Amino acid sequence: MRFDLDQKKVLGDVTHSLSILKDGTAKLAFDSAGLTIQSVTVNKTTGDRKSAGAAAKFEIISDKLIVPLPEAAKAGEKFDVQIRYEGRPKKGLYFILPDKDYPDRPKQIWTQGESEDTRYYLPTYDYPNDRLTTETILTVPASWITVANGKLISVTDAAGGMKTWTWRESLPSSTYLITVVAGEFEEVKDSWHGIPVTYYAPKGRADRIPVNYGRTPAMIDLFSKKLGVDYPWEKYAQSMVDDFVAGGMENSSATTNTSSSLKHPRLASEFTTGEDPLISHELGHQWFGDLVTCKDWGNIWLNEGFATFMEYVWIEAHFLKDQGEYERWSNAREWFQQANLYSKPLVRHDFDDSSEFDGNAYGKGGWVLYMLRHQLGEDAFYRGLKRYLEVNRGKNVVTADLARAIEEATHTNVDQFFSQWIYGAGAPMFDLSYSYDDAKHQVALTVKQTQKREGRVGLFRVPTEVEITTSSGAKLYPVTVSKEAEAFSFPSDSAPLGVLFDKGGHILKSAEFHKEKKEWLFQLKNAADFSDRADAVVALGKIKNDEEVVAALAETLRKDKAWGIRATAAETLGHIGGASASKQLLDALNTANEPWVRSRLVSALANFKDDAAVAAKLDSIAHQDGSYRARAAALQALAGLKAPNSLTVLNAAVAADSPDDFLRNAALRSMGTLGDDKAVPLLLEWSAPGKPIDSRQAAIGSLARLQKDNKDITKQIVSYLNEPHFPIRMSAIFALGLRGDASAIPALEALLKSGDLSIEMSPIIKQQIARLKKPQDGKGNPEADEDGEGGEKVGAEDGQAAVTQRLDKLEHLIQEMNERLKAIETRLPPPKQ
Ligand SMILES: [Zn+2]
Repeated sequence: MRFDLDQKKVLGDVTHSLSILKDGTAKLAFDSAGLTIQSVTVNKTTGDRKSAGAAAKFEIISDKLIVPLPEAAKAGEKFDVQIRYEGRPKKGLYFILPDKDYPDRPKQIWTQGESEDTRYYLPTYDYPNDRLTTETILTVPASWITVANGKLISVTDAAGGMKTWTWRESLPSSTYLITVVAGEFEEVKDSWHGIPVTYYAPKGRADRIPVNYGRTPAMIDLFSKKLGVDYPWEKYAQSMVDDFVAGGMENSSATTNTSSSLKHPRLASEFTTGEDPLISHELGHQWFGDLVTCKDWGNIWLNEGFATFMEYVWIEAHFLKDQGEYERWSNAREWFQQANLYSKPLVRHDFDDSSEFDGNAYGKGGWVLYMLRHQLGEDAFYRGLKRYLEVNRGKNVVTADLARAIEEATHTNVDQFFSQWIYGAGAPMFDLSYSYDDAKHQVALTVKQTQKREGRVGLFRVPTEVEITTSSGAKLYPVTVSKEAEAFSFPSDSAPLGVLFDKGGHILKSAEFHKEKKEWLFQLKNAADFSDRADAVVALGKIKNDEEVVAALAETLRKDKAWGIRATAAETLGHIGGASASKQLLDALNTANEPWVRSRLVSALANFKDDAAVAAKLDSIAHQDGSYRARAAALQALAGLKAPNSLTVLNAAVAADSPDDFLRNAALRSMGTLGDDKAVPLLLEWSAPGKPIDSRQAAIGSLARLQKDNKDITKQIVSYLNEPHFPIRMSAIFALGLRGDASAIPALEALLKSGDLSIEMSPIIKQQIARLKKPQDGKGNPEADEDGEGGEKVGAEDGQAAVTQRLDKLEHLIQEMNERLKAIETRLPPPKQ
C-alpha cells in the first residue's frame, strides 16, 4: 500500500495466494467495500511455476468483487489473484492529519478491522471463519515508522524520499486482525525471552511509555506460564494512536490502543491499576481471539470473555486478591444493572440492532470463566485451557470446542455448566432466610430462586458453600442448590453469629438475604472475604437514621484492609447522609492518602447539601490537594451541591493548567451538572475547533444540558457532527440526544445516511433520533422515561430533579469506572440513561 495524504486515499496492490476447496469452482468472491478496482490478474500456480497472468473480467456486485477463473477448478488447485485498487476508505482505515485547527498533530494512518471493516481498505475474504498469513509492504515518507502484523523483514529506500517497509506474519490469523499503522511515531524497545516487545507513541510522547506500559513483559510471562502455552507470535507491538475508534484492538502480534492510555506520569500513579486492565485485556486476546478465533460473531464471548478473564488473572497476580475480588464484585453489580442483558444467552445469533460486543460477551463472559475455574479448581481449569489452545491453535472455533477440550483434559463433564451459563441466559436471583432451632441445635436455611423463568432463563443448579459462625468458630458446608425453593439443615452448637451463603461470592448472582442488623454488622467486621464484607456494606446502607450503622461504616472506612471496601463504605455513608456521616467522611479525608480512596470520599460529600463544613472542605480540596483525582472529584461535587461560589471555582479551574488538562476538563464537565447558564459562553469557547479534543468533549457534554431552548447551541453542536475527529463526533451525537431539541433530527438522519460511520456509530445515532422523536412530557425531558433502573417512572412534577440526579449519578459512575471502561474497548454499549 501507498497513501495519498492530500486525498486521504489508499493505493493498493494485493495478491491473494489461495487453494480451491471444492471441485468445479468457477468464480472467486472477495469482500470489497467502496474501493475502485483497477485490474485483476489471475495466475494458476503449480509448485514454483506460475502461469502467465491473465487479466480477469471481474464484476462488482454490491460489496463483492467477483473474479471468474479461466475454467472450473478442482479442489487443491492453487491460484494467485492480484488486485490493483484505490479508494478513500469511509472506515477500516483512518487518516489523522494536521489541519488548520490542529497544525501540530503528528501524522498517523491506522486501521481498525473488527468486526468487518478490513474490506473498506483491502479487497479480501473478510469473515472470521478462515485464516491467512500476510506479507505487508508499505511505502511511506522516509521519516515515518510503520507497524504491521509479524516480523519486520526490511526497510529499504524508495523513490521520492520514501521508504518501503516489509512485514511478514507466518502464523495464519483472520482478516479482522490485519493491521497497518504508519506515521510520525516514536519507538521504545523491550523484549521477552528474545521476542521483540515494542511500543509506539505519537511523536513527542515516547517518554510516557514506560510508566504506563512497562509491565507488558511481566504480563506476557505470567500468561505464558498460567496457560502452559508460550506467547505465540513473533513479536508483540503496541501502537498508541490518536482519535482511535476503540479503547484497544488486539490485532495479531500488533495491538493498537488509544493514545489516551499514555497518561501523564503524575496522573498515571493516581489510578489503582493504571492502564493494566487495557494492556492485559489486549494481550490476553493474543491467545484467545488471535491464536484461537471465534468462528462467527455469535461466539464472540470466546474472545471477549477470555480477554476479560485474563485481566483478572493479571490483577490478582500483580495487585493481589482483594483487587481481583473488587473487580469481580463490581463487574457483577454492573452486569445486573444492565437489564437488557439478562434475557440474552452468551452464545446468540440474533443481534438485530444491538451490538454483539455487549456486556454479556465481556462482563458475564469473564465471570463464567471465573466460575468455571472455581468449580474445576485451578489445576484442572488450566489443563483444560491448555488443551483448548493446543488442539485449536490456528483454528476458528465455536463454544463446543471449549467444552470438549475441558472434558478431555479433566474428565469432568461440563455440559450442564455450559447449558445454563452459556447457552442459557440470566443468572440466579436468590431469596435467603434462616432460623435456628435451639432444641435440635440446627440452622435451617431456606433458599428460593426468584428469577422469572422465561425464554432462555431457567432454574440454576449451582454448587456452593454455606458458612456458619458461632462463638466456637466458623464451619463451612458444601451444598448444591437446584430447586425453586429448598431447605438445608446444618448443625450449630448455638445461635449463629453469622451465616454466609456462597461464601466469598463465587457465583454470579443477586441475593436478598433477610438478616438482622446485628448480623450484617458482624459480617462487616468479621467476614474473611472481600465480597461478603462488601455485601454487608451495601445491606447496611439501606438502614437509615441509625448511629450504630454510621459508626460501624466509619470504622470500616478507617480500618478495612481492602481499599475497595473503604471506598464503598464512603459512598454508602454519602447515601445515608446526616451530620455524623458527613463528619466521618471529613475526618477520613485527614488520613486517607490513596488517590483512589480520596476521590471517592470527596465524591461521597456531594450528598451533603447546606453543610458549611463540607462546602469549605470541597472548596479547599478543589484548590489544592496532593491528588488530582480528588481535586477533580471536588469540582464535580461542588457543582452537584450547587454551592453559591461553584461557578467561580469552576471558572478558575478552567483557566488553570494541570497535567493533561485534567482539572480543566473536570471543571468543564462539571458545568453541565451545575446547570448555571452563565457558563455557556465559556463552554462554547472550549467546545470550538482548535481546543484540545478532550476539553472539547467535556465542554460539548455540558452544553448538552444548558439553555435547552437555545437553538444556536444546538446548531453549534450539529456543526461538530461532520468533523473528522471521531471522539468529537461521538460527543456531539450523545449531546444532541440528551439536549432534546428536535431541530437536530435532520442533521442526525443525514449523518446516518452518509454511511461515513465507524464501528458502532449507527445504532447510537438511531437511539438518539428515537429519543428526540419521543413524545415529550410537559417539561420537555425526553430522557425522563429512559431510566434504565428497572422501570420506575418519573412523575412530571419531580421529573427535572430526578433526571438531574440520575445524570449526576451516571457521571459519578463514569468517573469511578474510568479505569475499567478502558478495557471495554469503548465499543460504546448504549449509555445507561
Ligand atoms: Zn477485547
